[in-house]
Amino acid sequence: MSEFDLIERIRARVASREDVILGIGDDAALLQVPAGRQLVVATDTLNVGVHFPAGTAAADIGWKALAVNLSDLAAMAAEPAWCTLSLSLPDGDPAWLEAFLDGFLALAAEHRVALVGGDTTRGPLSIGVTVHGFVAPGRALRRDGARVGDDIWVTGTLGDAAAALQQWRAGEGGDAALRLRLDRPVPRLAAGQALAAVAHAGIDISDGLIADLGHLARSSGVRAEVDLEALPASSALTAAFEAPSRHGLQATGGDDYELCFIAPTAALEAIERIARATATPITWIGRIVAGEGVRVFDADGAEWQPPRHGYEHFA
Ligand code: ADP
Ligand code: MG
Repeated sequence: MSEFDLIERIRARVASREDVILGIGDDAALLQVPAGRQLVVATDTLNVGVHFPAGTAAADIGWKALAVNLSDLAAMAAEPAWCTLSLSLPDGDPAWLEAFLDGFLALAAEHRVALVGGDTTRGPLSIGVTVHGFVAPGRALRRDGARVGDDIWVTGTLGDAAAALQQWRAGEGGDAALRLRLDRPVPRLAAGQALAAVAHAGIDISDGLIADLGHLARSSGVRAEVDLEALPASSALTAAFEAPSRHGLQATGGDDYELCFIAPTAALEAIERIARATATPITWIGRIVAGEGVRVFDADGAEWQPPRHGYEHFA
């Protein structure tokens, strides 16, 4: 199938929005940013064998390619609006493309995100997505706002995606609930936007809690102290992994796309309200102190050393 047939298949399926003046079909898209709002832009690439196991279903790849990008907008407290899609495909298989679009466009429809352009080339399977969203000036949730005395919170549960990857690598059948967390991450958009009213800083957990919290601590010029026993675990994770290895997955496993945010202690009740209103589990996991880096303490108050720190491409 030719490049133009593939693009036509994509164009035929996308939904539009009023603020898309010109979408797929010209040399560039023409978009109207609402008056008085800031444009928030994030981009993330998914490569076969690095970001998803070879053999992952096309619909799951489509979903995840958009989800990991929307997670970055969630972490900035932005409302998503548009995206572009850069596809590198080993062959022009229309069935693969349609299945990919099933996953991609299902998530796009859930959040009213319009696909407004992209690029289609032949090469090793790789998917690049750029997302655009809006935020009121001064309301973005940045990494540099944590203050000494603040609390550290996290949405959802940690370690499921890394657990699924470990099971897949071991060649086991693997737990379906864990595998769903790896293949179909759910971006925490509603929680992110609501938390902007109370939080001082935030980040999404793509490379593992310790690694990502480390980025936030460095940006803010503070130290993060985390209680290992406080880290939330799903029942699927608890059933499949005993404490020592489970803790490693929760503290350092990547690909969960939960939000980690920092808020003043006075925000406790507001956070509980947001958790209920957005149906998002939110758990206290530690505190911000003076210093630098991330320290994790076990139930006895002894410092805990992670088996590894998190995912880094060029390590
Ligand atoms: P050009 O040669 O001017 O760069 P292309 O032939 O690459 O244009 O693309 C034609 C139109 O199709 C453009 O509007 C482009 O944004 C869109 N497009 C190409 N590939 C994709 C894709 N994978 N997803 C969405 N839109 C795409
Ligand atoms: Mg052109």
